[in-house]
Amino acid sequence: MITIASITTKDIVAGLLVLFLLFGKVGGKSLLSISTEQEIELGKEVSAEVEKQYGVCKEPKYNDLVQEIGKRIAEAAPRKDVKYEFTVLNADEVNAMAAPGGFIFVNKGLLDYINFDKDALAFTIGHEVGHVVARHAARMIEKEMKTEIAIAVISKSEEWSKMLSLARDMVFLGYGRDNEYEADSWGVRLAYKAGYDPQGAIRFFQKLLKDEKGQPSKLAVFFSTHPPTKDRLERVEAQIKELGKNANH
Ligand SMILES: [Zn+2]
Repeated sequence: MITIASITTKDIVAGLLVLFLLFGKVGGKSLLSISTEQEIELGKEVSAEVEKQYGVCKEPKYNDLVQEIGKRIAEAAPRKDVKYEFTVLNADEVNAMAAPGGFIFVNKGLLDYINFDKDALAFTIGHEVGHVVARHAARMIEKEMKTEIAIAVISKSEEWSKMLSLARDMVFLGYGRDNEYEADSWGVRLAYKAGYDPQGAIRFFQKLLKDEKGQPSKLAVFFSTHPPTKDRLERVEAQIKELGKNANH
């Protein structure tokens, strides 16, 4: 039988800790929050895996354009506590990825696919930078880890490997539908702010829609990890219309 007397101070502290982790905010800051340093550290580890898996492409034809556009998009990005790094991967699939902490990857195959269209590339790079600006990885890890810690006592090293595996999943599989739409919206905004034509986003999605059935092998990854192209196209069209209206007044 459990009596009040058998509940120790330690139990109470543990109970309170669980409650805080689940619901607690101290001074507006969540108790379990991923610091920028942790985000960068996670990003570095996942990036090393990505580079090992695909290999880095240093060909100037690809790399110079990605560095040039990446620099301008990074300057337009409102989040300044991370350094954005852009790497071209030796991969034929039409894809780009963002690791936490500002590490952005663009596949060679994406540049070939859009035929080096700078505006379309500015949108896709802006989309990836948008994931970092909105702290999508950090936010999703914070949410997952709160539940994890609340249900079990885990060691620091278990905590880190769990966070790393969550980060890895997001880099390879995307950030979920709502975050992908939000990243599209950042893509349009950042491309526009950096001086590119946001219509590049429309050209990109129109081409994808047209080719969805034709080239399934090169596009398979992209479509399995992102929301339906038609919805994304409609959303960016509406957003660009608004941009146009605001620019005229
Ligand atoms: Zn994305």
